[in-house]
Formats: sequence, C-alpha cells, structure tokens
Amino acid sequence: MSRRSLSVSLVAVAVVAVWSSSPVRAQSDDSTYAGRISAYTTDERFINELVDHLPHSAEVPSPLDHFGTIIGAPDILHTTTEIYGYMTALGEASPRVSVRTMGKTEENRDMMEVVIADEATIGDLERYREYLNTLADPRGLAGDDAQKIIASAKPIYYIVAGLHSPETGPPEMVMELAYRLAVEESPFIQAIRDNVIVVILPVAEPDGRDRMVDTYRYKKAHRDVGPSLVYWGKYVAHDNNRDGNGLGLALTRNVLASFLFWKPTVMHDLHESGYFLYVSTGTGPYNQEIDALTIDEWHNLAHEDVTQLTKYGMPGVWTHAFYTGWAANYLVWIANTRNSIGRFYETLGNAGADTRERELPSSSTSREWYRPNPPLEKVNWSLRNNTNYMESGVLVSLKYTADNRAEFVENFYLRGKHAVDRGLTESPFAWVIPIEQRRPMAAVNLANLMLQQGVEVGVAEEDLEWLSDSADDANSAPRGSFVIRMDQPYRTVAQVLLAEQKFPSGSTPPYDDVGWTLPYLHGVDAVAVADSSILEARTRRLTEPASLTGRFDGKNRAYYLINNTTDDNIAMARFRLADIQIEAAEQEFELDDRVYNAGSFVIPSDGNPEDLVQQLESVVQELGVAVRGVRSRPSVPTHDLEVPRVALIHTWVSTPQDAGWWRLTFDRLKIPYTYLSEQDLVVNDLTDFDVVIMPNHRASPQTLVNGTTVVGDPIPWRTTDEYTAIGKIDETEDVRRGMGYDGLKHLKAFVERGGVFITEGSASALPIEMAITRRVSIRTTRQLVARGSVLRTSVDDDSSPIIYGYPESVAAYFSSQPVFQVNKNDGGTRSPEWLRDEIWEKEIPRVVLSFAKEDVLMSGFVSGESEITGTPAIVDVPVGQGHVVMFAIRPFWRLETFGSHAFVFNTILHWNDLRVGWPTRPDEEEEATASGER
Ligand SMILES: [Zn+2]
Repeated sequence: MSRRSLSVSLVAVAVVAVWSSSPVRAQSDDSTYAGRISAYTTDERFINELVDHLPHSAEVPSPLDHFGTIIGAPDILHTTTEIYGYMTALGEASPRVSVRTMGKTEENRDMMEVVIADEATIGDLERYREYLNTLADPRGLAGDDAQKIIASAKPIYYIVAGLHSPETGPPEMVMELAYRLAVEESPFIQAIRDNVIVVILPVAEPDGRDRMVDTYRYKKAHRDVGPSLVYWGKYVAHDNNRDGNGLGLALTRNVLASFLFWKPTVMHDLHESGYFLYVSTGTGPYNQEIDALTIDEWHNLAHEDVTQLTKYGMPGVWTHAFYTGWAANYLVWIANTRNSIGRFYETLGNAGADTRERELPSSSTSREWYRPNPPLEKVNWSLRNNTNYMESGVLVSLKYTADNRAEFVENFYLRGKHAVDRGLTESPFAWVIPIEQRRPMAAVNLANLMLQQGVEVGVAEEDLEWLSDSADDANSAPRGSFVIRMDQPYRTVAQVLLAEQKFPSGSTPPYDDVGWTLPYLHGVDAVAVADSSILEARTRRLTEPASLTGRFDGKNRAYYLINNTTDDNIAMARFRLADIQIEAAEQEFELDDRVYNAGSFVIPSDGNPEDLVQQLESVVQELGVAVRGVRSRPSVPTHDLEVPRVALIHTWVSTPQDAGWWRLTFDRLKIPYTYLSEQDLVVNDLTDFDVVIMPNHRASPQTLVNGTTVVGDPIPWRTTDEYTAIGKIDETEDVRRGMGYDGLKHLKAFVERGGVFITEGSASALPIEMAITRRVSIRTTRQLVARGSVLRTSVDDDSSPIIYGYPESVAAYFSSQPVFQVNKNDGGTRSPEWLRDEIWEKEIPRVVLSFAKEDVLMSGFVSGESEITGTPAIVDVPVGQGHVVMFAIRPFWRLETFGSHAFVFNTILHWNDLRVGWPTRPDEEEEATASGER
C-alpha cells in the first residue's frame, strides 16, 4: 500500500543534501514495519504517504524494535510504564528527543513530557523557552525587540494524548509520531523538526490509562466480557477534561504548570468520539472573552487539516458542527485563555485495540455543507486506521505551523498585547476582592485560585476608592483587599472566571456548562471596577498564596464563639474539634456590635477537656477561624452540635463521577466519611451512620435496586496479581448487582429511625420513586433549557438549620434537572384541624430554599424558565424520625461551588436538629396566597 513514488523519495534525498550540514545518508524504510501498517489498515482510503512507511534507524529503536509489534497492531495496548519505557529509550538514543517528568498523579504515577526538535534546538531549549516566555509578557518589551525575538523564536506545539482513558489510540499513536519526528529525513519532517518544538504528553491521565489497559486485557481473557471503566482517575472520569476552572485534579495542575513553564503556542488534545476525524473549530457562539485571532487560528489549522487529508483521498475529515467553543473549562482551554490556541481532534476509536465492524450513526455520515466528504456508513475499523488518521492530521498541522512559524509566534505575542491594551482602555480596569466580607476564607481562596491560574494578583497597600456606575455597586475596599489589574497578559483568564457569562439568546446551548462565574459560585463579593483610576492604587504583587489569618480574642473565658460564615473552615473546625462539646445558635445574635449568624458555635469551657484552649488555638492557626472568648453565655437559644458519622454512597451501575467530586472535596477539607456503594446496603444496615449521602448519578431507581443483569459470569472490579490497576478505590465481586430490596429496606429503616439521607440531583429519584418519601415528585419539563448555569435562589425558611449563615439570596449551580414539585395538601377543609396540624408537622416537606421567582438567571443561559422559577432548590422531607434532604442544585460541582457547600455541611452538622423551627400550618389566607402564586 506504499504510495510513496520513487520520484518523491529522490526529491527527499536531494533536499536533505541541501538542508542538512551532516553527510547525506540515504534513509531506508523499515519494510517489515511498512508491511504491517499496510496489513492492519483495512482500506486503501484510510492511509496516505505521510504514514504508510517508517524509516529505519541503526541508532534509534522504533516501536517495532522496542515492543516487537508496530503501533496500531490489533489487540495491543500499552500501559503507562511501557509507554514511558519506550519514550525514555527514544530519549536516550536520539539527541533530538528529551524526556521530562512534569509531576505526579493522585495515585503517584509520573506524568511525562517528550520534547522533540532538531538537535541544536534540543541542546538550547532554555533559550527557546525564554523567547516565548519573554513574548508572553509584552509590557516593557519594545516592538523592535519583540520582532527580533519573533524572528528567532520557534513555536511550541504541545500534543496531549490519553486524557480520556477509554479513548485508547492517542497514547499509542504518539509513540510512532515521536519516532518519526526524531528519525525521518524527508523534507516534510525536517521542516517540522527545524521550525517547531514538539512537546508530547503521551498519557495525560496515567491512572486511568493503566486501569483501561487492564480492563481491556481482562475482557480479552474473559470471552470479551468485563467491567467497563468504572473509575478513570482516582476521583473523576470524563470530567478530567472539565477541571480548568477549579484545578481540583493533579493532571490539570500539572498541565497548567507545564503550560506556564513552556508557554506553548498551540495545544492539541487527541480524543476519540468522532467519525473519522473531526477537527475542532466548533459551531459557536464562541466564548465572549476569546481574542478573535485565536478563533482565526482554529479555523486556519482546521481547514489545512481537512484540505490536506481530503487531498490524500481520506473520507470523513471535517470540521464545524460539533462542540460550541463556549465553555472554558476544557484542558486545552488553558491555552485559549492564555493567548495561545487550544484545539482537538475526535477520531474513531474502538475503546480498545480490536478491529471491529462499525456502523456509523446517520447523523455523522450525511453530506452537509461542513462535511462534503463524509465518513462511510459502515466500516471495518482498526486501531491502525485510527492511528493513520490522527498521525497524518497532526503531521499536517505541524507542517503548517512550521511553514508559518513567525506568524504563529507573532500572533501569540499580539494576543498578549491585545489583552494588556484592553485592560488599559476598556472596563473593567480591575477586579477587586474585598478582604472583609461575609466569607473571608472563600475570598482568600478565590484570590489564591486566580494566582494558581497564572493571573497576577495584587494586595492593596492602601484603602481603595473608586467611582461606580450605580449607587448599588461597591465603591471602596479596605487595605489588604485583592486587586486584579486588567492590564495584564492573562486578562482573559480573569475575565473568563470572574465575569458573568452572557450566552447569546437564540443560540443552541452547548453540551456543557454555559455559566460558571466563580465569585457567584464561591459566594464571594468581587467588584468589576469601571473606573480606570483603580490602576493607580498602591499594591504589592502576591507571589505566594495568601493565607487566611485566624484570630483568637480573649483566652481563658467561660465561653468561646465562632461565627458561622458558611465558609468551609467552619465545618472543618467542627470535625477537627470532634471531642469538644459545641452548641449552635439557633438565631442570629449580636454581641458588642458584632453580628453572629445563626449556626454560630457557642463553646462552653465547662464540661469540655482541659486542652480546650490549645485545641481552639490549633484551629485558629491551621484553619484561619476567628475565635472569641466571652465571660457569659450569649442570650440565644442553642442546640448541641453532635459530630455525625457520614457515609458517601457511590454506584457501580453508573459512573461514580459526581460522587468523586464530593469525595475530592471532602478529602481536601479532611471531612471524615465512609465510602460505600449501593451494593454494601444489602448487608450494611447503616446503624453505624447518622448521615448517608447519595450524590448525583445516572442510574434509574430500578437499576439501583435490581442491578443490571445476572446473566453470564460475574464481572469483578478488584485488584489481582494479573490486573493490578483495577480496584483500589473500591472493590466488588460483581459490578452488576444493585442494592436489592434488602438495601432499600435498610435505607428506609435508617431514615425512619432518625437518620438523614441526602440526595443530590437525579439521585432524588430513588427515595421518590421507591416510596421512601411521599409528597415530592420530579416534574417533567417541556420548555426548560438550563444546561449548567448559575441560578439565583432565595431562602424560604431561614429558621431551618440547613440555611444557617446564608443571606436571603444565594447563587447556585443547576443543570437541567430535577425540578421538584411538592404536594402540601393537608387533607382539606373536611379534615379536623388536629389532623391537618399533625399532617403538616409529620408529612409536609419543608422547602428551605427555592429558585428565585424573578431574575433567576445569574450567569449562563436559561429558557423556559417559568418551569423552574419558584420551585424547591432544597427540600427537607420528614420521614419517620428522620429526613430525606433533596438537592436540586449541585453543591459539589467540579470544585467550583464553594458557596453551596455549607448547605450540605449544615445538613450534616445539624442532622439530629433539623426539626428546629419546623413550620406550623399557615392559616387559610396565607395558604391561598401561597398556592395562588404557584
Ligand atoms: Zn474524549
């Protein structure tokens, strides 16, 4: 199948002679390798002259030399260790390859980068890195100097493989790509090597890669039956590509650190959810903050890829029509928001290395304006086909970058310059995060997150004042407040994360989040300052994360008070002070002009351990909590705050990803919990727990109870000598089993005897449909479009402990469903009053938080909003002695929703006091008004 004609080869040799100072060596191809490429490619149309051969090298081992098989061979997938082994061998053998470790994963695997360029460039990498780092900050860089650097600099093209673990091809492909780039002497490859620095991240999710290879090998050994990839990384699955805002995962932090180190010009992420090769550009609307030049380069590169591969006769290479380009949380958006460009491929993978018949959905094979050369409807597809598409696409992109080397570097520089210029001429001129606010810890954490994102953060060295457009807006902040000037190269990052997302109405909403405004979701006041005089404020630049300073006023007193700010450190403190008796104020109170919110801690000296003061000192030091000693008990009703025993339940029958985000947050905050699965409920009667949490998942109540199937062999998820990467986080003999009726019975009995069952999102369907609760239903919505946005909620019942510490209106994350409906029918006028009272007290759910009746959208996009306005956001359903507390909002969404954490922490900490302030039955008139409003 080699279509490289003799004349092409001769031209190649001739050009080598001109370009290379080293003696000309005619390069021969490895005929065995080429023969196998041909054999494993299922159709002549799926290959081209860029990848139908592989040069032989006497010094540098090819994948065939190293592994004994070529890349894309049927049934062969390599583990992270094997891939690193090959890349290391490449680095040792070739002076054009350098290998670097960039950090560790949660499970302590290394993350590796492979750098490839011509020998001289590899020998002088630091110089090229400095060129790009200098151009990244145009402030104080004279135009002439910039042009000189642009003329000498080389773009860095950063390739990401293996982010999505079931998409198995890219980590294989990049090994062959690395070899080819290092060894091949064709003018095409030489041009790339001389003009571009290629950095390859062969496995972006090493923990998931090894689990995936294990599950694949397991299936091969078990008649093609085995577990799907329940866990990818330690915490999340597919969402490992949605962590750009919160930076919760090690892989995101490592890639960001690597980006900030290299300042790559292009980042290119390789995925497998397309037919046969979808090149990203997207449909728009593109993110409102992105520089137009970024979008132009997406198109330039995409059109080049599509044109060249189409010229080679390859069907099904297309762009547009998939993905919006709005959400900025994808991994390669690290580049888009920082003046580089981020793009991706979606090729066709078989989630393994099998060659399989694939029938493509007609929606992907139709001929369209954006897809004049559609993929085939039915195809016998191999990993080698996939390799051919990916590798030749990447080579075309690299060649285009090489041919336009100066333009890419200059555009990178210009985007930085645009950002600084916009910050000087356009509002906002700065974002100010006042140091004194309701949630001091959240404010400091948000400033630190911005710092971690690479944004320059200043600390005001004087009190700040500015002119504001409206009397409602803040116009001052005290010394010590954080100031993010907008005349900085990473202005875009700050705007993307801090400003409201105003999605154009009439556009099709994206398949991922539309709104995420972090000050809203973190519960932090941040002010966009429209007055340019803010740029004259005296600030010092924050170089290390700011710390929250705790205070301890008045030691050795009879009582100690801790204000319930709703910050994470309040709940953390309760668990840290586990052996201390703590009471919670049931109302807001004032003491010496200081306001303490409901839920504030009142800690008596009497009856507490002798080291109380030392223990309090430690939470002041380590958590930044403010403790105040007073001589007498404040006059406010209190109840005891008993430390609960918490179980967090994940599911085997659907990905436990959302439970993973809860787990990640609880781990970070050191909030203790026991990790159980739905299957554990069969035998675990939950008597050791006070609170059971079931985060959002995608399993129906029927599946949760019944499991999936019992036909065939059990499918275990556990570590064995043969499959060392499976298991670890949790284990089961058979992933298909549900909780059964015993599990359901245990859950119901747990609630009835006084436990609290917290359900998030769609998990609420379990207690509703399986009749653990009554009177709450999930409404089918017909008009509502509310994909991942920030909505305004308002407090319905501020005497509920769940609401303690919150203001009347709170921003919260919601995505599509569930929309709750509550039946408050108390029997009607024919029932005796005493019965109606009792029904009200024992059965009627207590809606504690609702979606606002007006202006419900804060950031993102909602249409058909009448279906959600005024509906419950959190509802506390009494069941026997206990409660089911259902969340329509998503309080632990991707480490972004710090502002909602305390709704859950309040529920947990007040688990046996949720009846405090339970509402009495409203009189007829009120009731009529209330129902009239619905
Ligand atoms: Zn993917």
